[in-house]
Amino acid sequence: MSSTESSSPPSIRVVIIGGNVGGLASAISFRRSGHQAVVLECRDSIAPEVTGGIRLPPNITKIIYQWGYEELLRRVAVKSSAIDLRLMDTGEKLGGHVWEEQLIRDARGDFMFTHHGDFVRFLHDIAEDMGAELHYSAKVVDVNMEDKIVTLEDGRVFEADVIVGADGADGISRPLFEAEEPEPLLNFYSTTIPMARILSDPLTADLHNENKAGLCAAWFGDGVAVLGWPLMKPEYALCVYGPPVGDQTGWLHQGKKDRMMEILNKAEPRLRKLGEWAREPHVVTVNKTIPLEEWFHDDGPYALVGHAAQPLAAGSIQEAATAFEDGVALGRIFSRIKNYDQISTYLIAYEEIRRDRDIRAYEKELEDIQFMCLPPQYAAARDNVLREKGKDGRNIFELEIPDDPTESEAWVAWEKIVDQFAYNAEEAADDWWHKTGKTIQASQGGVVDAPLLQIVVAKTHH
Ligand SMILES: Cc1cc2nc3c(=O)[nH]c(=O)nc-3n(C[C@H](O)[C@H](O)[C@H](O)COP(=O)(O)OP(=O)(O)OC[C@H]3O[C@@H](n4cnc5c(N)ncnc54)[C@H](O)[C@@H]3O)c2cc1C
Repeated sequence: MSSTESSSPPSIRVVIIGGNVGGLASAISFRRSGHQAVVLECRDSIAPEVTGGIRLPPNITKIIYQWGYEELLRRVAVKSSAIDLRLMDTGEKLGGHVWEEQLIRDARGDFMFTHHGDFVRFLHDIAEDMGAELHYSAKVVDVNMEDKIVTLEDGRVFEADVIVGADGADGISRPLFEAEEPEPLLNFYSTTIPMARILSDPLTADLHNENKAGLCAAWFGDGVAVLGWPLMKPEYALCVYGPPVGDQTGWLHQGKKDRMMEILNKAEPRLRKLGEWAREPHVVTVNKTIPLEEWFHDDGPYALVGHAAQPLAAGSIQEAATAFEDGVALGRIFSRIKNYDQISTYLIAYEEIRRDRDIRAYEKELEDIQFMCLPPQYAAARDNVLREKGKDGRNIFELEIPDDPTESEAWVAWEKIVDQFAYNAEEAADDWWHKTGKTIQASQGGVVDAPLLQIVVAKTHH
């Protein structure tokens, strides 16, 4: 399939395992770079019919705007305006944060809420329009890295120049990269409630009135926490964190509403009502994971994106964004490729650009959730700080937290939030090109003082 030298840039054939956020973002980005993209998704439908809400921070929406799909996104996503922080048992408001125009303008995107299924369908439509080849009911059962062949359960085989593992935390890819068993920390219940139900009851109507359009509500409890936000459909997304209970979990399973209600029944009356009206939730675990050493396999041109590379906590702000950004950055780097021999160089560059950022996002999101779920001995200190600042009407994420009241001061590190929102995955790939890639390409055969080149040489001589 491949030739070593070519006068015009090659059109690489990329076979992507998994057609959710990471896989579809990869397909779009590779197509934008002029390559062939084949997506193999084991689900039999474009998107799951019943899903919960996800949050799209500015670092994801800005790329969608750059691509020219802002209007289309606005049909399925609601703009977020602010977040309120409350105590779960009493409902007392500790404080809030309004997303300032300036921050959002600087980030060049919006903070939005959407249904997971709507967002996957939205990405599918773009990928299809851009000419990606999309296969459903296509379960991958074997990856032959040396021969670059991917085999499906039904016997079909797909040849590739590059294989992308976008098959999530529980797919076929992570074990091939020697991922260690994760440690379950929390259960996460994701469900929705019809907005009409919420608005019809005076107790809950306040969660979504005219002044509060786009408000995300967060409730802090003892080892438990809840998030809620409005969706376009119109529905209300409800996310509940609680202790891990060792049941069968995963995005394909609905059930365990009784366990979710055990948590909500101890909470303020509004949360009890929301729980009663909610449909059966999806239940997944929030895990502690050991980051993979490498995202690019030694045995062949096989790289991981999204939760296959680094799973993030379900329901967290950057959960979908990291998967999306991985796919975007990977495809974008490949816009510069000049011949097939450079494939490994570009895959290593991708790992260099994305791995540390995803690990930082994973750690920060986990800290945020644990901060919401602090046990009483730490929660009191946390609540006092937030309450005091909330009284002044200040934006809560901009606070300076005194030394170690909660062991989670990073939660409110404003710089981290700004850093996450300001990031642009396409620009990160372009920066790599200008700082390192150009030199590598110019140096073929020569000696270059670039750290990446040393890694490339070490890996390709493996
Ligand atoms: C069905 C589903 C529903 C979800 N709903 C929500 C939600 O409501 N709220 C929320 O916060 N998050 C939800 N998520 C999680 C969230 O979207 C993702 O975890 C996150 O965006 C990372 O995306 P990803 O593409 O890296 O991985 P994933 O979302 O895990 O996607 C991996 C994809 O690979 C496919 N796959 C796995 N193994 C194979 C194989 N052997 N061959 C072919 N395909 C394979 C899976 O079917 C899946 O579509 C959902 C995920 C899934 C899979």
